[in-house]
Amino acid sequence: MTAKAKKDYEVIIIGGGPAGLSAGIYTSRSRLSSLLIEMGVVGGRITDAELVENYPGFAEGVSGAELGQLMQKQAAKYGLNIVNAEVTGLELKKDKKVVKTTKGNFNAKVVIIASGSERGKLGIPGEKQLTGKGVSYCATCDAPFFKEKPVAVVGGGNAAISEALHLAKFASHVIVIHRRNQLRATRIMEEKARAEAKIEFLWDTVAEKIEGKDEVKRLKLRQVKTGKQSILDVTGVFVAVGLKPSTDFVKGVLPLDKAGYIITSDRMETKIPGIFAAGDIRQHSPRQAITAAGDGATAAVFAEKFLEL
Ligand SMILES: Cc1cc2nc3c(=O)[nH]c(=O)nc-3n(C[C@H](O)[C@H](O)[C@H](O)COP(=O)(O)OP(=O)(O)OC[C@H]3O[C@@H](n4cnc5c(N)ncnc54)[C@H](O)[C@@H]3O)c2cc1C
Repeated sequence: MTAKAKKDYEVIIIGGGPAGLSAGIYTSRSRLSSLLIEMGVVGGRITDAELVENYPGFAEGVSGAELGQLMQKQAAKYGLNIVNAEVTGLELKKDKKVVKTTKGNFNAKVVIIASGSERGKLGIPGEKQLTGKGVSYCATCDAPFFKEKPVAVVGGGNAAISEALHLAKFASHVIVIHRRNQLRATRIMEEKARAEAKIEFLWDTVAEKIEGKDEVKRLKLRQVKTGKQSILDVTGVFVAVGLKPSTDFVKGVLPLDKAGYIITSDRMETKIPGIFAAGDIRQHSPRQAITAAGDGATAAVFAEKFLEL
């Protein structure tokens, strides 16, 4: 990662996932001075994926971590500057946009927001206190800590099933707790999960409390139809219950939809000239690595046209 002292750029990209990195590949390859600001892992959320089977060009699939590294390498080849900092605000001035970060302010003529989304929380007692002590939001990161131990996954979408499949390689068994009686995950994901002997499902069930002093010991559950409560002895609770858009830093600057996603045109333009948005952060995004990468490329192409004007 390069952290340059330079403060002024033609383009600043917020977020280093597939959308941000694709935008960066395009803008830096077009010789626009470009800075990408990423607060976490360059590569974004796809780096949590065990195996990505639907990104074109990888017939045998590719690990999310490798895909992220390859994108970063490609962007670095064209000279994209990357700084590791959190963006905390955005200020619009007459002649420039000021991007406020934990490492100072940076200025740009164009900003591409590609900050994606983060995992939703359960908001139940014990979750916060036991995070990192058995409560996790990333099986790829934490599954090896649960070798031959029972774990629960809360959620019923693709992310939850992806987590459960990865955990099954380590844990003694994996109980998927879902508040409905059928999954939201795609059929292919469901088929994989049902074929895995270590994975069980608890339907119509919600987690009410995570118990344990210094580590997770058990999960208090409630059957939503009968109201019956039960206890599940597990040492790990993996939460995969939807996403929250990472748009706190643009609140009051850009119009957002009710759920907090950024509304754009099909050119990735927002309501504010010179501010574009790309990837999972966009309203109605299919939230896939390839669509995020496509959005990033589109945003970069129209950002360049904006600068030419
Ligand atoms: C477990 C898992 C498996 C998946 N499997 C697949 C799959 O098989 N195929 C597929 O196509 N998709 C898959 N996805 C979805 C895919 O990862 C996303 O659709 C894709 O990463 C979205 O890219 P993005 O660039 O829009 O956002 P993200 O990848 O979310 O990147 C956004 C980046 O912005 C950064 N950021 C956020 N806020 C700030 C801030 N204020 N300051 C600085 N940086 C900030 C974040 O740290 C993050 O790195 C999977 C996701 C998960 C979690």
